[in-house]
Amino acid sequence: MLNIFALQQSISASFPKFQTLEKLLVQQSIVDILLLGTGLILFLVMFYVKIISFSEKEYRASGIAFIFSTIFFAPFLFLYLYDFPFKDIVSISLLAIVYLSIILLLLPIRPKAKACLPDRQGGFQIPKEKHDERNVMFSRNELEPGTEQFDSYYSNNADKKYLDDKFRENPGLLSPDSSMYHPFSFASAQANLEVIEALKPIVNGPVAEQEIDIEPSKISNYLKTWSKKLGAHSVGITELKDYHLYTHKGRGDLYGKEISNKQKYAIAITIEMDNEMMQTAPKGSVVMESTQQYLSSGTIALQLAYFIRNLGYSARAHIDGNYELICPLVARDAGLGEIGRMGLLMTPKLGPRVRIAVITTDIPLVIDKRKDFSSVIDFCGICKKCADVCPSSSISFNQREEIKGVLRWKINHESCFTYWCTSGTDCGRCMAACPYAHPNNYMHNFIRWGINNSYIFRRFALYMDDLFYGRKPKSRNIPSWIDI
Ligand code: SF4
Ligand code: SF4
Repeated sequence: MLNIFALQQSISASFPKFQTLEKLLVQQSIVDILLLGTGLILFLVMFYVKIISFSEKEYRASGIAFIFSTIFFAPFLFLYLYDFPFKDIVSISLLAIVYLSIILLLLPIRPKAKACLPDRQGGFQIPKEKHDERNVMFSRNELEPGTEQFDSYYSNNADKKYLDDKFRENPGLLSPDSSMYHPFSFASAQANLEVIEALKPIVNGPVAEQEIDIEPSKISNYLKTWSKKLGAHSVGITELKDYHLYTHKGRGDLYGKEISNKQKYAIAITIEMDNEMMQTAPKGSVVMESTQQYLSSGTIALQLAYFIRNLGYSARAHIDGNYELICPLVARDAGLGEIGRMGLLMTPKLGPRVRIAVITTDIPLVIDKRKDFSSVIDFCGICKKCADVCPSSSISFNQREEIKGVLRWKINHESCFTYWCTSGTDCGRCMAACPYAHPNNYMHNFIRWGINNSYIFRRFALYMDDLFYGRKPKSRNIPSWIDI
């Protein structure tokens, strides 16, 4: 049996400070207590990071956190245990460095990014020109060579013919000949798309004859709460603006029809894409997940649209393949995020790892204010991780530029889509690598809070993200339950 007394004696002999428990408690100076306490706190924080990272299957981050937990604790323990000349000066200097660094990181230092919010934008927020859905890559992909639509499109857009011929040379999305072909995940994605196809005709419908009296704040709250119960991550309401709308339909039976939607409001909902599935990007589980969340967000949008029509007001759901508007633009104006470097909506808690659906309606609602996400613009300005990992070099490393009256980062949609037609999936490498896209938990939310709060924290967080997850994080294997 372990002799506790003998053990205590031996410890006391080696480390005079441990002579008795009572002495330990009464003989310590404030500096000693601070040294031990700070060392222990840093150790525990890094150990917590290690546990969380391990649970997220981020083994590199978990290993680094473990090393840090030891490295951070060691100097404090050394200073606590050993006496040497100038020990107090060294101890106080170390404590000062640690606490001043923490204060510096947490102070709300926020030089604002230019041109982010309407009141200080100086323009560059509202597109001067509307987009035609026929120019979207999905629409161009649906054009069948030899048809009138095909000939007409390329005679009007001769510059796009050469670019589109390139993606047509490749196997195509969900093709068995594509490089990422995987029977189960591709068949699941196909199943999701087939269900979405069946839902496309029911985005609109008859409105109940009797209009129920509605208090805008109550119905707004009802719609938001119900959406979240149905699985939405975030919900926002904005006025429907003309610049949200495409000029013409680019997909489906109404191809080429001019879009005119006079409804007053737009409700944007986001739905989370599973992190584990996204970390496999650009493998098959990514397209399985993205189509799943197109379906889930679309289903919620349809439910809300049916519900609103039952109350006697018009409502139209905008779901994958049957949009009249640009969802990220609506979601941005509804206060759900900001458009980042990769051209997607960056939400505060999931970054770009969401899918969006929209409902346009005439039911009276309370609109949400657009929020200040200038920190996203600043962070995207320095991060560039999505540009680094993009296999087709489709994301710009440069600063934002004015595109159709809006200040944004340029994306090469043609080269991105050409890669999709090679891999057979919708890639998502950029989304998976984004530091904003880490799971929605206390640890990552604290870091996202810091990124939002402080210019200095942003730079520190980016350095740490590169260190913990790698500048170019590796793609994970497809989950074993899919890869049978
Ligand atoms: S990876 Fe970095 S630069 Fe790209 S969208 Fe995310 S935060 Fe912005
Ligand atoms: S989806 Fe893939 S190819 Fe397209 S921009 Fe993102 S990383 Fe690049």
